[in-house]
Amino acid sequence: MNKYRLVRDIDIDTTYDLVIAGGGPGGTMAAIAAGRLGAKVLLIEGTGCLGGMGTSGLVTAFDPMANGEEMLVGGIMREAVYRLYEQGELGPGQCPERFAKRYMRWTPFRVEGYKRVLDEMVIEAGVEVRFFTRMIDVDADTSAKRVNGVVVHNIEGYRYVPAHAFIDATGDAILSDLAGAECREAGRDTPHIMPATMASLLAGVDWTRYNREQCHAMYQEALDRGEFEQYDRHLVGLSPVGDDVSYLNGGHLFNLNALRCRDLTEGAMLGRRLAKEMVGFYRRNVPGCEKMEHVTTASLLGIRESRRIVGAYELKEDDYFARRHFPDQIGLFNKFIDIHPYDTSDQEWDRFQQEHHNPKLRLGEGESFGIPYGVLVPQGWKNLWVAGRCASADVRVHGVIRVQPAAAMMGQAAGTAAVQSIRSGQPAEDIDTEKLIQTLREHGANLPQSDLSSTMTRDLVRS
Ligand SMILES: Cc1cc2nc3c(=O)[nH]c(=O)nc-3n(C[C@H](O)[C@H](O)[C@H](O)COP(=O)(O)OP(=O)(O)OC[C@H]3O[C@@H](n4cnc5c(N)ncnc54)[C@H](O)[C@@H]3O)c2cc1C
Repeated sequence: MNKYRLVRDIDIDTTYDLVIAGGGPGGTMAAIAAGRLGAKVLLIEGTGCLGGMGTSGLVTAFDPMANGEEMLVGGIMREAVYRLYEQGELGPGQCPERFAKRYMRWTPFRVEGYKRVLDEMVIEAGVEVRFFTRMIDVDADTSAKRVNGVVVHNIEGYRYVPAHAFIDATGDAILSDLAGAECREAGRDTPHIMPATMASLLAGVDWTRYNREQCHAMYQEALDRGEFEQYDRHLVGLSPVGDDVSYLNGGHLFNLNALRCRDLTEGAMLGRRLAKEMVGFYRRNVPGCEKMEHVTTASLLGIRESRRIVGAYELKEDDYFARRHFPDQIGLFNKFIDIHPYDTSDQEWDRFQQEHHNPKLRLGEGESFGIPYGVLVPQGWKNLWVAGRCASADVRVHGVIRVQPAAAMMGQAAGTAAVQSIRSGQPAEDIDTEKLIQTLREHGANLPQSDLSSTMTRDLVRS
């Protein structure tokens, strides 16, 4: 491609302690954590609300937060869920007995309530938020591995924002990649890309007459009759998020590369077509759905996999199956390895079914694994962290920790670590991790490990 050299003078903002790009669960919890510790924080979000996939992406359910015995997910995420519960903003029938205890239970929420709760929490924490603003460039010293500032764009034009520390919570590791940190890309560094989905919000569902198993059987029959544009057997289906309102996690968009604008555009259009087809199927066939109304598809396309960093620690499948816990773990989790079928072949369907129904391929009740601090630190970088979907893990464990509660725990840890680093002068990889864990505990994180260590766990010590 020919090049156009963009040269222009732009205004320089005041210097922040911490700039966070992306206001999904990772970025928002990072901002709240840092704000509560007294840091001057700027949170930059491209859309007009916080929550990321959970709000703009209409992915209106939290993955399981408990393991059948206890609530693994603590800290700010736990607080947010309890606020939603107290304000009547969780889905019908959701209560602490369920979300704080039971194994393999999703927690649907009302999307408007979640947006408002996150607004409340960032305001209370003194975070400065800029909506409708995109981080578009990064000024970094690649030899010193330090980020100096980012360029943002909004209605007021371009602005250079300097800061002492940065968190990349864009989901796609955009800040890290622009800075020059090493990243892995699905489809480039791996043979497959997990499919995307365009989620929808539906109204008019009579839950008293809806039966999930019956619906799945009918869906298979309709597929066999050739009623759908693609033969996608993996129906994720409906979740109640209101008295007659449902979230539709439906229609896989296969081989979509979320790092290509054309794929995103075509995927959004195909996603809307597939959603319309599914709504038609529900209306025609499924008891309780006759009066279903398709309220809207999401404004953010649901991306499961794109780019992630190579971190100081890359969490791997053997860590997961060993139920490994770490002295510097910043969160505990229990989710199964959730790799949606890569295509519509029988082979992929069988692989997916095996993984979902084989208890040996998932953690059981009462079990958990730890997420070590090093997954948040791009290797060697001094003042840069990530939080959320772009954290460092192999493809399999990425399929576990990419979800909202885990992203939120990583966010709280990244925000806390950034503030500690600024105050101690120690770079990201060298902060005192014992102190980090103690601070996280003081702020509600569930980190029961007794063998604390002042240095982080590095990949080098893998046995
Ligand atoms: C279809 C689908 C279904 C899912 N189902 C579930 C589920 O049931 N339960 C669950 O817990 N998880 C689920 N997940 C996973 C989960 O929603 C996401 O992986 C999680 O939200 C990731 O959090 P994050 O903070 O890393 O990024 P995101 O939630 O993606 O947020 C990133 C934010 O950054 C903003 N942003 C990006 N680039 C820029 C930029 N350059 N400048 C400014 N802002 C920027 C975006 O607008 C967005 O708000 C699902 C995901 C998908 C795609």
